[in-house]
Amino acid sequence: MIENPRTTRRHFLKIAGAAATAAMVLPFPELLAAEKKKPNIILILADDLGYADLGCQGCKDVPTPNIDRIAKNGMRFTDAHVSCPVCSPSRAGILTGRYQERFGHDSNPGSEFDRKDWGLPLDQKTFAEYMKDMGYATCAIGKWHLGDNAAHHPNKRGFDEFFGFIGGAHPYLDPTVNSFNMIQRNGKPVDEKDHLSYAFGREAVSFVDRNKDKPFFLYLAFNAPHQPLQPAIRDADAFPEIKDEKRRNFAKLMKSMDVSIGALLDKVRESGIEDNTLIFFLSDNGGPTPGNTSRNDPYKGYKTHVHEGGTRVPFMVQWKSKLPAGKVYSKPLIALDILPTVVTAAGGKVASNVDGVDLMPYLTGKKSGAPHDVLYWRFDKQLAIRKGDWKMSKHEEKGVRLYNLADDPSEKNDLSAKYPDKVKELQAEWDEWNAKNAKPMCPAKMDAPWVNSEW
Ligand code: CA
Repeated sequence: MIENPRTTRRHFLKIAGAAATAAMVLPFPELLAAEKKKPNIILILADDLGYADLGCQGCKDVPTPNIDRIAKNGMRFTDAHVSCPVCSPSRAGILTGRYQERFGHDSNPGSEFDRKDWGLPLDQKTFAEYMKDMGYATCAIGKWHLGDNAAHHPNKRGFDEFFGFIGGAHPYLDPTVNSFNMIQRNGKPVDEKDHLSYAFGREAVSFVDRNKDKPFFLYLAFNAPHQPLQPAIRDADAFPEIKDEKRRNFAKLMKSMDVSIGALLDKVRESGIEDNTLIFFLSDNGGPTPGNTSRNDPYKGYKTHVHEGGTRVPFMVQWKSKLPAGKVYSKPLIALDILPTVVTAAGGKVASNVDGVDLMPYLTGKKSGAPHDVLYWRFDKQLAIRKGDWKMSKHEEKGVRLYNLADDPSEKNDLSAKYPDKVKELQAEWDEWNAKNAKPMCPAKMDAPWVNSEW
């Protein structure tokens, strides 16, 4: 049969048209579906919040019902640490997934110290840069504390949006008074009228509202409950039952952060994205009890110490479609693990120099061991290493300590004289780790009264 060229042509056009329509229509929903599968990421950081400062961590006098919701919706970690017991180095670790000693970020940069020219080194790939590479909308809200100058500004480090302040601390009320460390939006001063913890909550809700239809990464770094203990005017009458004024102000400051986190969790739920949103909450270091009344019970020491009270922090995660609800996870892990966990969850790969590990196989029970066999700390005159239940810590002037955390979680019973070989072994292992580290970029210069206490 001879084909009718017109029919054949028509047939071809029909097929070509259908193919073109398919090419135009089908791949887009598929692409959109693939995009939708990427989880949204919310990383909430508290500042100077102690291990025992939340309801879900056993706190009796300061209620935190909204932060506790994250533990109820997901998993709470009881042996989770930050990589440094003070603000900036801990954040440098979280935002790179690397021990910050790898690049000498051992101390706090900023206006309070001599050198203002340094910050998170520009050759270090940040969490936000990883997320941007994968098509995420990125936003940082709150305290930055990773460098004061223009080159280190969050907008230059992978964040599309920034609202907050650049330094290490800030008054909560009348924030405009602080001209050298202004409240800003993307570098431009903002005349903020609200209490900072409520303002940061408002901004977080707004970011989620504007970005709920695409994958987003929100880094929400409250400065609460860091000093000064300035509660919001609207909370003036809260907690009359707490007699101690300092503790009462601490409770009010916690309330403002907790209410803001509640509003954010509500926004995520109302937006229909709760199942596919991975939410981490942790503190950047242990509580400085003599400073803000925070508590680290039952652990020894404070912020600035490599004791458990300085590095073991409240730490939890929810991801409703992937992780069980209301579970406690008790194996040791470290804040460096957040970045690889998130990047892997989003379908990406981390650089081989990242020290953290993807926690998901451990949290879902696919892997039964601990995420880390060994954890390390280096801070000013102190060092520490944790291996299994053993912890060796050392202070240049106060000497060496050895504890078995399984029997002695509060680090009361020094076993260094009893087990000198264990001390040697752990020191050698720490030395091997430290040999690959950079020298500190700047001395720590920590002069708070509690720094050298309780050793
Ligand atoms: Ca801090």
